[in-house]
Amino acid sequence: MSAHSTDCIVVGGGPGGMFAALLLARQGVRVMLLEAHLDFARDFRGDTIHPPTLELLDRLGLSQPLHALPHGVLRQFVIHAGSQVFTLADLSRLPSRFPYMMLLPQEKLLDLLACHAQRYPHLRVQMGAQANQLLWEQGRVVGVTYRQAEREQVVRAPLTIAADGRFSKLRKLAGLEPIRTAPPMDIVWFRLPRYQTDPTDQGVVVNQGRFCVLLNREQQWQIGFVIAKGGYRQLHALGLRAFRTALSDVVPWLSDRLHLLDDWSTLTLLSVESSRLSKWYLPGLLFIGDAAHAMSPVGGVGINYAVQDAIAAANILAEPLRTRSVQMHHLAAVQRRREWPVRVIQFIQGILQRNLVAEALDRGKAFHLPLPLQIIFRLPILRELPSRIIGLGVGRERVPPALPGV
Ligand SMILES: Cc1cc2nc3c(=O)[nH]c(=O)nc-3n(C[C@H](O)[C@H](O)[C@H](O)COP(=O)(O)OP(=O)(O)OC[C@H]3O[C@@H](n4cnc5c(N)ncnc54)[C@H](O)[C@@H]3O)c2cc1C
Repeated sequence: MSAHSTDCIVVGGGPGGMFAALLLARQGVRVMLLEAHLDFARDFRGDTIHPPTLELLDRLGLSQPLHALPHGVLRQFVIHAGSQVFTLADLSRLPSRFPYMMLLPQEKLLDLLACHAQRYPHLRVQMGAQANQLLWEQGRVVGVTYRQAEREQVVRAPLTIAADGRFSKLRKLAGLEPIRTAPPMDIVWFRLPRYQTDPTDQGVVVNQGRFCVLLNREQQWQIGFVIAKGGYRQLHALGLRAFRTALSDVVPWLSDRLHLLDDWSTLTLLSVESSRLSKWYLPGLLFIGDAAHAMSPVGGVGINYAVQDAIAAANILAEPLRTRSVQMHHLAAVQRRREWPVRVIQFIQGILQRNLVAEALDRGKAFHLPLPLQIIFRLPILRELPSRIIGLGVGRERVPPALPGV
């Protein structure tokens, strides 16, 4: 078994872990990032890049290569309910250099970041490296063991950042249990070709107690068919033909290509979860991103919040990590900084789930926009609120300049 040591270990090469590692390395901290998979190819993992993340990528000098990749752009998010159309969010008016959401397969974003990571001599990205044990000494986490190419290895550091996602292994190893709420829905994701003659609107279509999300990925539509929590088994039992019929009831113009959904393997079930840890840290260990708080997909905010956690962690921890003086109060400061934005957005998602989603899935009655949303849309002073909450998020972090010479 070989052993290494570094200033900070980051477990997980998703958006949270990758940005945390880059931003710390940019501040002169020696970082080792462990990613369990050999590549970033994952389907249906969240493909939205929000304005604050686009601004961060711009700060890192990555805006140009990012925009050169084939991508979609979402400026308005609309709800189609029968003959009514509501604009839920209009991002084009946001006070940002990038007043839109970019739609890009997450794999492409992570590939770009991994490539950029090579310019930081302080940062080592280990692919195919699965963390499997925490190393404890005198009640403190002092590193992890990981398996890479069939070999057990050890890496030691004063701090391990667990950014290993909603099913976090490190959270289990640390014995931490998140507080869970049960959103009333699950989502079946799939893709269908997109034709030039298709409508251009992106957003939600509600029809006859059914509810679909449509995102434009240039050559394809990424489609989420929302079902009641635990409803997938029933959907499966009714068969693919019934599923295609249900889809053509909600979005009739897709009927000409539904035959392409000819196998259940073309569909991916997302079991929707919303949770958060009551304490995000232990001595020598900090949780960020989905590992600290799994987000409901309402508003598609999970990536943005994981990235904002990464910025906050790097801002607060870079100096104490560089000087090897990181203490519990530094870790507590990261949680204090990020917990309230997470609580606020999870509270808003809860309201939307109980009202908008539950109302849309009620097959017994015609869809009506819930009263709080009607009020928001009627009052000019409140109309921009959903765009700001979805597009910018709550509690944005500032990115300091790189340490000179790094
Ligand atoms: C189907 C689906 C659709 C979604 N759609 C959206 C969307 O449209 N917009 C949005 O903002 N969010 C969306 N999300 C949520 C979004 O993907 C997450 O919120 C975001 O990726 C969280 O980032 P993260 O870095 O915290 O964790 P993850 O992205 O989950 O990354 C965790 C990483 O850790 C690695 N890992 C796990 N265990 C270990 C280990 N033991 N050792 C080493 N590495 C390990 C994993 O391989 C993974 O790469 C969606 C999620 C799903 C599942």
